[in-house]
Amino acid sequence: MKTFNVPVIYRSPLISAIKNQRKQQDRMKKDFSPTLLDFGPLKILLARHFGFCYGVENAIEIAFRTVEENPGKRIFLLSEMIHNAHVNNDLLDRGVQFIMDTAGKQLIPWEDLQEDDIVIIPAFGTTLEIETRLHSLGIEPLKYNTTCPFVERVWNKAEQIGKKSYTVIVHGKPGHEETRATFSHSRSNTPTVVVKDMAEAEKLAAYINGTTPAESFYTVFKDQYSPGFDVTTDLQRVGVVNQTTMLATETQAIADYIRQVITAHYQLTEATVGERFADTRDTLCYATNDNQSAVTGMLLEPADLAIVVGGYNSSNTSHLVELCEEKLPTYFISAPEHIHSAGEIDHYDFHHKQVIHSDTFLPEKERVTVLLTSGASCPDALVEGVIRRLLSFYGLEHKADEMATAD
Ligand code: SF4
Repeated sequence: MKTFNVPVIYRSPLISAIKNQRKQQDRMKKDFSPTLLDFGPLKILLARHFGFCYGVENAIEIAFRTVEENPGKRIFLLSEMIHNAHVNNDLLDRGVQFIMDTAGKQLIPWEDLQEDDIVIIPAFGTTLEIETRLHSLGIEPLKYNTTCPFVERVWNKAEQIGKKSYTVIVHGKPGHEETRATFSHSRSNTPTVVVKDMAEAEKLAAYINGTTPAESFYTVFKDQYSPGFDVTTDLQRVGVVNQTTMLATETQAIADYIRQVITAHYQLTEATVGERFADTRDTLCYATNDNQSAVTGMLLEPADLAIVVGGYNSSNTSHLVELCEEKLPTYFISAPEHIHSAGEIDHYDFHHKQVIHSDTFLPEKERVTVLLTSGASCPDALVEGVIRRLLSFYGLEHKADEMATAD
């Protein structure tokens, strides 16, 4: 896979050494067991896959290069480039300005933009409406485009099945930048509806098989369907795509469920189901799959707690937290500094969207085992920072240097 020129501040010699070693031992990526870092009283089990994905490194390379190559020019990002405060703040420090916040609220009026301004499209992509708006301002929207190719692959699949008259069901968070972009691209080709989880998929299924009266659809799915959507005719042939960072297993479960509902309702067979249900399996993002499978592999090991590092508004990170929470106490932090001592930590409760303080962090026992991973937009340097912080509570910080320089 292509390698990118990412600022060295985001890299970690320690993590790179571990990742390279694992890569050499398992080139086909078949082994999802964690890496054991045994420091005696502290055992850290590091997920097999974590950290920057292809799309994030691609976006960082383009954004930093654009800043470097255009001194004196005004540079804007449509919104946060990725969901990581460290990276976004580094760009803000270099003079980049955000036009919108992640929820789509305008921070800089469109009228303030000028023809010779540079506008970077973030890794999530953007809507066709915003592309048109930039055109009208004399700005070429795709000149500085960091949209991840794996997101574009979803758009292409939606277009492909849309052209074959399938309605597109997008499994995603309706307010997320990527889902808004995918919804916009898809609805330009075909009727489209967004479902955020299995519960909404079940509600949608009740319109497919007619067990819920059609009229209520427009209230239940308010703001989640394309203009002109006709629930009585537009749910007869469908395909499911996703916001790439959703739980891959949930997307698969939703697709399987809708397929089954369609099969039963239209009395189809394995041979004929394709007439009404499009196969979209090849749109799942490799990084989301790898990171989530690595957490599943890591959770097979006995441990005392899990730490997940990443931006608090990062969808892919929150799904890793969700998986860990099912098994053991889990601490979602965005930086090593949030670990104050062996006992005290400030961590994020993404269910209630608040930072909470805990004073029972590391258990007081002879050997403590910690599971550690991070989201796809989290620099490895932060994960190394967490390892060093944990080691410092045992007077073992030097072990990290020894490990980074070992052959
Ligand atoms: S998580 Fe996947 S789709 Fe999203 S930016 Fe990374 S590689 Fe691209």
